[in-house]
Amino acid sequence: MKRLSLYLLIFVSFMLALLLNGFAQDGKSKPVKKQTVELKDAKGNNIGSATIKPSGRGVEVKVDAKNLPPGDHALHFHQNAKCDPPDFKSAGPHFNPDQKEHGLQNPKGHHNGDMANFTVKPNGTAKATIKDPDVVLGTGSEPNSLFANGGTALMIHAKADDMKTDPAGNAGDRIACGLITK
Ligand code: ZN
Repeated sequence: MKRLSLYLLIFVSFMLALLLNGFAQDGKSKPVKKQTVELKDAKGNNIGSATIKPSGRGVEVKVDAKNLPPGDHALHFHQNAKCDPPDFKSAGPHFNPDQKEHGLQNPKGHHNGDMANFTVKPNGTAKATIKDPDVVLGTGSEPNSLFANGGTALMIHAKADDMKTDPAGNAGDRIACGLITK
């Protein structure tokens, strides 16, 4: 009888260990290796997508979009995972866990979510790969994870970023937005 209890105890411990291991490896704690972001304009139309992947200590963003105004445009990560049209103000300011000023050329900068401009062709399409060394996909537990605090938003602006004017680089209206959530 004693031996049976011992076997039972070992069996229960084993099952518990399996269960806990399962919890530890669920979706919330695994680092994300690739994130696709659907981009929508102010009217709610799909204008393409962006694919985010780890690159170096940060990420690279591959934008593949259409129906945009030709010319140079700012691209930023904003701090809230909200894209309420038409003005996308719900996305909040630039993602800035390091609490710096705006602009890749600002001596007091820059925001984690600041990135280089990209160019839309005369036919309204854009294909660009832009790096951001100051954010990660990660698990969401890192302060600079794009999934931190419920996620972030990828934003395209009407104009180019001047890379120095705080807080948003004189980039004008927010014209397209995509949610970055787990
Ligand atoms: Zn900024």
